[in-house]
Amino acid sequence: MAVTDSRSLSTCTVHIERRGGRGDAGARALERHLKDLSGVYDVDISFRTGDARITYDGSVTSEETIRDAVRDRNVTIQEESEKTTDDVSTRSELRQEAAFVGLTLLGMVTGLVTGWLEGSQILMWAGYGVAYVFGGWYGLKGAIETLRHRAVDIDLLMIVAAVGALSIGAPFEGAMLLFLFSLSNTLQHYAIGRSRRAIKSLVEMRPDEAQVLRDGEEVTVPIDDVDVGDVFVVRPGDRIPLDGVVASGEGTVDQASLTGESVPVPKEPGDEVFGGTINESGSLEIEVTRQAHESAISRLIHMVERAQSEKAPTQRLIDRLEQPYVLGVFGLTIAAIAVPLALGSEFTRTFYRAMTLMVAASPCAVIISTPAAVLSAIASGGRQGVLFKGGEHVETAANIDAVAFDKTGTLTQGDTQLTDVYVRDGTADRSLTDDGLLSLAAAVQARSEHHLARAIVAAAKERSLDVPDAQRFQSVAGKGVRADVEDRTIHIGNRSYFGTVLEEAAIEGLEPGLDRLQTLEAEGKTSVLVAREERDGVTVLGWLAFTDTIRPGAAEMIEDLRSLGVEHIVMLTGDNERVAQQIADEVGIDEVQAELLPEEKVATIEALVDRYENVAMVGDGVNDAPALATATLGIAMGGAGTDVALDTADVVLMGDDLSKIPYVFGLGRKTRRTLTVNLAIAFGAIALMVGTILLRGIPLPLAVVGHEGSTVLVSLNGLRLLGFRG
Ligand code: ADP
Ligand code: MG
Repeated sequence: MAVTDSRSLSTCTVHIERRGGRGDAGARALERHLKDLSGVYDVDISFRTGDARITYDGSVTSEETIRDAVRDRNVTIQEESEKTTDDVSTRSELRQEAAFVGLTLLGMVTGLVTGWLEGSQILMWAGYGVAYVFGGWYGLKGAIETLRHRAVDIDLLMIVAAVGALSIGAPFEGAMLLFLFSLSNTLQHYAIGRSRRAIKSLVEMRPDEAQVLRDGEEVTVPIDDVDVGDVFVVRPGDRIPLDGVVASGEGTVDQASLTGESVPVPKEPGDEVFGGTINESGSLEIEVTRQAHESAISRLIHMVERAQSEKAPTQRLIDRLEQPYVLGVFGLTIAAIAVPLALGSEFTRTFYRAMTLMVAASPCAVIISTPAAVLSAIASGGRQGVLFKGGEHVETAANIDAVAFDKTGTLTQGDTQLTDVYVRDGTADRSLTDDGLLSLAAAVQARSEHHLARAIVAAAKERSLDVPDAQRFQSVAGKGVRADVEDRTIHIGNRSYFGTVLEEAAIEGLEPGLDRLQTLEAEGKTSVLVAREERDGVTVLGWLAFTDTIRPGAAEMIEDLRSLGVEHIVMLTGDNERVAQQIADEVGIDEVQAELLPEEKVATIEALVDRYENVAMVGDGVNDAPALATATLGIAMGGAGTDVALDTADVVLMGDDLSKIPYVFGLGRKTRRTLTVNLAIAFGAIALMVGTILLRGIPLPLAVVGHEGSTVLVSLNGLRLLGFRG
């Protein structure tokens, strides 16, 4: 659920240095430190991924104060401006890590072979020395950092085990431990980097320059220098550099990079187009509506980065357990030395066994099991135009039992069309024509943002009607609107508007009007009455009817949801019951809640949450914001164009493709399965090895292979989610 705004909470993401080791216990210490600051509510930090995400009360503290507090703890902050170089430095870091792994292997093999051939002692120890230095470098650095925060982590476990092996004359085992440890660390960093960068490749596909029209001439301008209102040209096959509205020309655009929808979208003047998408046919002139850094795709990338910094609940739990677990392993190791020694066992053997136990029991695989999977899932969604606003929501999506859909703009296309205009027989004003009624209605509705209003205004424009000015516009949510036109108040609304807002019973022509509404609604048409306030009361002038097309694929989508195990599917709408029921029958929805006021939508969601616990709400994000926030998982559609959706929902579908809704739940479920498998592998490997060691003992190299092997396995298993297509 979204953070409630009651205390004006804000969230900032700070990019911090990534630490070489594997442990993240130092991050917990920094989290505690920041949480002690006044005004800070929630902190998620990972040195492994280089993210710090802080939720704070903006009236008590500021991002600057928090950044200073981070710097006070000797943690380097990466400034926003350096972020473009981030990738480069990550890549060179990775190269250095890989080189260290190579040197470790070289040293280890040199040591082993020389020892074997009974060659020079100096060469053998030099080999092992090289292996220890390069294999232990990052782990030691990480362990020391964590110790400075008065905490211990798994890096320390590994270093101690390697030194322990050396101390009892098993340098090869220690070197091998360090080699596999540094190898799997490098793989893990690669995996995390992959999932973080997966989405960035999108922005790289956006051209750096636009062909801007200046005084009728085409000029090549860097996109950062293009302003809102400028017009640029794209030809067939070109990538569109910036967000804008088609000013002239017609064509089709492949928007897959942004929305994940592979079907090209036709574009004509007035349509919105997005930077990073491909113009397939036709030349377009496009007027810029957003600067480069505010474009839909930049925001998508920014939000995915932010999402990846928010931890999933499983990861929070595991992170919290790291420190006690590590201490437990140390305790176990000490006991495994002390007890047998006290019972008279031989020192070297006991110590060797204890070191084996320590390696086997270390939770490296457990710790990497979650981020590897969740980061990959978020990146995979991003490439399909599905934006999870945090790891938490990926896990929530796995558990949804009931789904509520908004009707207009979600199950239907929202391109409402006016179909009928009727003037009531016997209206006092005999000169009133259909066009006259429509222009009065359009005058009032010119002030409204509602989809019915837009349909009315569009119809008046199509008929080239003269639309008068309106004053004192007022709207009653979920019911209707009124305004003064030509010195008379015009009312437009549904049954409820005329029943409750205009309580004075004597409305002339209300009876026949309501009858007509009923007939029209039985045909599946949304309809409203238009009335005028005369000196002696209100009189119904006529009525208007509308239709809206159901989105293609709606019925299949509902079926897919059921096969994913969703138990109950509800439609919520402010529209009339009969109209709603028709659509529900057509797409296969279980329950219809119609004629709801916006606050009643919220109450309906609350009731569903009581009954089903995990409820998703799907809306188009504009007027559904409160309901989206109330649901366990709020999903907004069509996010490429709106900011509201990005703010309130937990998951944003950049495009309008309904098939992305089952995708969300499918990805959630797949991620949960991956997490379960990963944790089973991780804990299974530990249990198996520790059990075997206690019962009959295994050689240290085998424990090392089992331990590091399971770590690599869970990283790779998590990375598989990058390829999830639904
Ligand atoms: P929905 O988004 O499901 O259509 P709303 O709450 O926006 O729900 O609208 C519910 C009903 O209220 C509409 O079907 C219509 O009858 C009436 N209504 C709302 N706004 C207007 C308007 N601007 N003009 C006429 N009727 C309106
Ligand atoms: Mg709606």
